[in-house]
Amino acid sequence: MYAVISDIHGNLEALEAVLDDMPEGVERVYCLGDVVGYGASPNECCDRVRELGMPVISGNHDLAVTDPETDLAWFNPVAAAAVEWTRGRITDSNAAFLFSLPRTLHGEEALFVHGSVRDPDEYIVDSATAGENLALLKSEYPGIRVCFFGHTHVKAIAPLPPGGASVADSEPLDLGSNGPYLVNPGSVGQPRDGDSFASYVLVGGPSEGSEGGPEVAYRFVEYDVEKAQAGIRAAGLPTVLADRLSQGR
Ligand code: ZN
Repeated sequence: MYAVISDIHGNLEALEAVLDDMPEGVERVYCLGDVVGYGASPNECCDRVRELGMPVISGNHDLAVTDPETDLAWFNPVAAAAVEWTRGRITDSNAAFLFSLPRTLHGEEALFVHGSVRDPDEYIVDSATAGENLALLKSEYPGIRVCFFGHTHVKAIAPLPPGGASVADSEPLDLGSNGPYLVNPGSVGQPRDGDSFASYVLVGGPSEGSEGGPEVAYRFVEYDVEKAQAGIRAAGLPTVLADRLSQGR
């Protein structure tokens, strides 16, 4: 069994809660990028990711913070302010780590990307974009059963698995048929789907009677949101970054 987490965004309180939530059988934790940006603990989050030897890919914030060539005009003013703040605090060692990360990882049955199959900066937010990326997944990566993606901070699965299952279920979803699937575990450090709790997925299986595909279970994790908010305010980051954590948007 392995876990997939995404979009930590410098929120150490959420990251620690997620790591504490993981059952003992988890052998590896994949991270889909954006370890830093927005939250008050970028170095502490990098340190945890590195200590645990997570296979991790870079997100757009990781690169914006560590690559001075990044044009911040692409970021909204609040995100740009957070990038500038993080640039001023990230250690040389953590900056080198983030800058060196691959943009995708490829396992036996799974692909790991930040944004989408075709573009690490693309947001998969509608069924048309999901469909185009699923078609590309099938043609370019024939053995892949599931592609994990982040970037939107919204839990999502496409296509929906048989039997009316959804991302709100805590029961494992059998992805053994009708695949391949795109799966977004949601965000650890800055959820944007109206939920204030952190989320991630556990991947195991195949279950009995399935066609050999993975089983994916969503996990929903309460953490000390107020402490994370207090850290953001004390750091002098834009206060909207603290407010949004309790609103999940
Ligand atoms: Zn992000």
